Amino acid sequence: MTDLLYLTNCYLKDFEAMVVAAEGERAALNRTAFYPRGGGQPADVGSLLWESGQAQVVKVKKQGDRVWHKLEGEPPPVGTSVRGVLDWGHRYNLMRTHTALHILCGVIWRDYGALVTGGNMEPLKARMDFELEHMSTDFAQEVEEKINAEVAAARPVRICILPREEAFQIPDLIRTKINLLPPQIMEVRVVEIEGLDMQADGGTHVANTSEVGMIHVVGHESKGRINKRLRIALKER
Ligand SMILES: [Zn+2]
Repeated sequence: MTDLLYLTNCYLKDFEAMVVAAEGERAALNRTAFYPRGGGQPADVGSLLWESGQAQVVKVKKQGDRVWHKLEGEPPPVGTSVRGVLDWGHRYNLMRTHTALHILCGVIWRDYGALVTGGNMEPLKARMDFELEHMSTDFAQEVEEKINAEVAAARPVRICILPREEAFQIPDLIRTKINLLPPQIMEVRVVEIEGLDMQADGGTHVANTSEVGMIHVVGHESKGRINKRLRIALKER
């Protein structure tokens, strides 16, 4: 089972680990800070270094309890001590973008009572769909002002890991369909933007909304009668 270091420390940029399985061009480690693709967030990239070699990490995927790192080249043998180094620019931009989406869905829920129906992100750009009947340029502009007010408010972003029963008693979590979590999941990781948003979530986020920086609403579309899409973009910092 791979210890998922990014769940408790999103700012971990490098780490020491051991190879526990190796096949083809991929290696599984006993612990990792590499985020495997999931929840709309792309996987991390970076490199693995060991005494006699190194390789680029080009894909990361979770399979069961193990995180597999797809390498460019042959993996080191089982038992090898390795150092993992994340491409921090790539990951930090994803943390900022992911947090921007939480700000967006927090504002849309608070001010318009609309639920999220889907979303996706790349570094510095993302889209999110909402149960909304109406969409317009004026609305998109209004949303842009509101979400940037939350960036300016510099709200702390907190992560806590709660026992399942405790998490299920938080009313704010119900709207994020926490009730759909498989019964074998005993602990729930909760990501909270203080005073704005709370979600059961396994992704990586910045520690304060101010780190997100200016968010631009760069597009809006109708995806159906009660399904409207907003597109956002962030700037490199
Ligand atoms: Zn998230």
